[in-house]
Amino acid sequence: MIRFQRTLKKQIHCKGIGLHTGLPVQMTLKPAPAGTGVVFVRTDLGGAEISASAANTAATSFATTLCRNNASVKTVEHLLAALSGLNIDNVTIELDGEEVPIMDGSARPFVRLIADAGIQPLEALQPVLKVIKPVFVREGNKQLAIWPAEATSISYFIDFNHPLLKEQSLQYQPSEEAFLREVSDARTFGFMSDVKALQANGLAKGASLDNAVALGEDSVLNKDGLRYRDEFVRHKILDLIGDLSLLGMPVIGHIVAHKSGHGLNAQMVGKLLSTPQSWMLLGSTGNTEVAETKQQFRHAQL
Ligand SMILES: [Zn+2]
Repeated sequence: MIRFQRTLKKQIHCKGIGLHTGLPVQMTLKPAPAGTGVVFVRTDLGGAEISASAANTAATSFATTLCRNNASVKTVEHLLAALSGLNIDNVTIELDGEEVPIMDGSARPFVRLIADAGIQPLEALQPVLKVIKPVFVREGNKQLAIWPAEATSISYFIDFNHPLLKEQSLQYQPSEEAFLREVSDARTFGFMSDVKALQANGLAKGASLDNAVALGEDSVLNKDGLRYRDEFVRHKILDLIGDLSLLGMPVIGHIVAHKSGHGLNAQMVGKLLSTPQSWMLLGSTGNTEVAETKQQFRHAQL
């Protein structure tokens, strides 16, 4: 369960547009030493740094926004999900604009970039937060709970008032392979009926059929249809993985979500941090698990 921290082997670069701003943005991911975590750097604002942490979570409507000292970065969740899904703990992310590029609306392009860079293990342990008492948050008819368990799993259920979004559910057991196969390709989605209202509020200016699944009254409007039959619930799991990574360390527990979104995901991170009696930290030096992991690490380096 305990493993060593990881970063990228070399820096990687991509460009795209922001889903909400519609503006072009360039992004460079750079290797970072153990203990750095995930840190965004706004190169257009004199190198202002915004670490991916609960303390910097500023807004959660339609996307997760981080903010520190008036510098912000929007729509971080799919990139954070790719990093978390592939167990990349330390990276510096340079952006010359205020929003992570949406790419194709999924985590697939980020996964490919990370695969191109390669992954570098670091000789420092990654602490893990193990839930030992149930933690629960709710908001109207949305619920999110984490139950104590020996391994992490996610049970997600959605039930929206739309013919294509009725009762989708999925059980997900995280691993790098499962992330690649089961959730990384799932795209963000939206209702055509909402697009005008979103754009009137300055949102979704960059949205198109190239970066989102668009839902009409009873059909998908994208010419090539869906990537998975249940792409919607898979994308919700992707968002949850990205949002929960703002804890700064992996969680061990059985995560049960019903219609959760960015707001409730952020509430769960806040609740965990404010109830330390509900979890224990693994990965402190001196226990046998650590000794075994160190041995495995050295063996893997030979
Ligand atoms: Zn999303």
